[in-house]
Amino acid sequence: MSKHVFSRGGDRLPVAARGSGAEIFDTDGRRYLDGSGGAIVVGIGHGVTEVADAIAEQARAIAYAHGTAFTSDSLEAYAEELAPLLPMDDPRIYPVSGGSEAVETALKMARAFHLARGEDRHVVIGRAGAYHGNTRGALDVSGRPGLRAPYLPWLGAAEHTTTPYEFRCPFPDSHPDGCGTRHAQALDTLIEQTGPERVAAFIAEPVSGAALGACVPPPDYWPAIAEVCRRHGVLLIADEVMTGFGRTGAWNGCDHFGLRPDLMVLAKGAASGYWPLGLAVASGRVYDALADGGFTHGFTYSHHAVGAAAGLAVLRRLRDHDLVRASAERGDQLDVALRTELGDHPAVGDIRGLGLLRGIELVADRRTSQPFARSERVVERVVAAGKERGVLLYPSTGCADGIDGDLILLGPPLVITPGQTEELAALASSAIRDVLG
Ligand code: PLP
Repeated sequence: MSKHVFSRGGDRLPVAARGSGAEIFDTDGRRYLDGSGGAIVVGIGHGVTEVADAIAEQARAIAYAHGTAFTSDSLEAYAEELAPLLPMDDPRIYPVSGGSEAVETALKMARAFHLARGEDRHVVIGRAGAYHGNTRGALDVSGRPGLRAPYLPWLGAAEHTTTPYEFRCPFPDSHPDGCGTRHAQALDTLIEQTGPERVAAFIAEPVSGAALGACVPPPDYWPAIAEVCRRHGVLLIADEVMTGFGRTGAWNGCDHFGLRPDLMVLAKGAASGYWPLGLAVASGRVYDALADGGFTHGFTYSHHAVGAAAGLAVLRRLRDHDLVRASAERGDQLDVALRTELGDHPAVGDIRGLGLLRGIELVADRRTSQPFARSERVVERVVAAGKERGVLLYPSTGCADGIDGDLILLGPPLVITPGQTEELAALASSAIRDVLG
């Protein structure tokens, strides 16, 4: 490995040579079952030549022309085909280069919307434990103490409310009826305390992705939250960076709850890793205000023609191969297989999720849900054991209290076969047993 690469994984990484479906092969010929699609990115599978061809064709014709001067056929076609799939009225799609850029763009859209209407609203409310990206605005609305700590002097403009995390519910007395109303009350109180005239937006994932390990909120959560936002004129931003494009067995995570946000952010599955693509989407109402009031923003690579060509080819692949339904079906299969393999394991506190987004929460004591101490680096060891066995798992830490808490996230390509789905559950289980007995 060159000493000039600022590596994210140390100096002994294998070299990825090629991929096919749900499998990656390194230059030594080792095969890995991609149990997490990287960071829950690869939806349509590795090695799809029609996407590579679409990228090459657009790049050959013209790779780049500035977004303020030109549009492209690929972007126009992509927006036409994607818009009807989004849970918004008359959506307007602003393509960027990834999830964090999409979040930053949506935050600015929310601010610009209120300014255009003569309101100086600027506070954005996120949720405890949430992850929305690593740029400063996105990190500020995130509620991950470990990631925020080094940068705290730069943060602090955002507020944070409670998050629906059924395994460690902040309102245990509200069950079994459901804690949705209690979360909505908490948000309502925070908005009142902050001053509704200062609150621009509330941002959340419809289903919590990596940060809380595929936590699905109770059915009464989203209707109650949406009502609070509407009542206070607070824009609702759905972060679908991880949950979009079929990941949870529906086109959008919002679809499970009938949620219609004012703004949406998407990335990861949008181009399935073939291109760094993110999308910020404004509803027609938000767009109209911005069109009148102006929107001071932009990136050199936004509205990129090659990115749009990649997104369009991926979208067609998802549709033509019925991969959203596949995600729901394989997801149910994976859930059963995981419960069969790990349901009785003393260190498995919870198995949860929707579609092909599944989380396994590891605990030191199943009865009390006490997490392992962070110093034990449990999930890191499990992921390393998985890699040894030829399966790629995605780790997350800090779910219990910001520091402790070990999660394994599974999010394989939606093209994973039934046989590979069983193999994934078996390999994940052996990796856990290697470390925890
Ligand atoms: N939002 C969510 C929910 C995410 O999971 C992520 C990345 O994991 C992001 C935003 C940031 O996306 P990116 O890493 O592409 O900047």
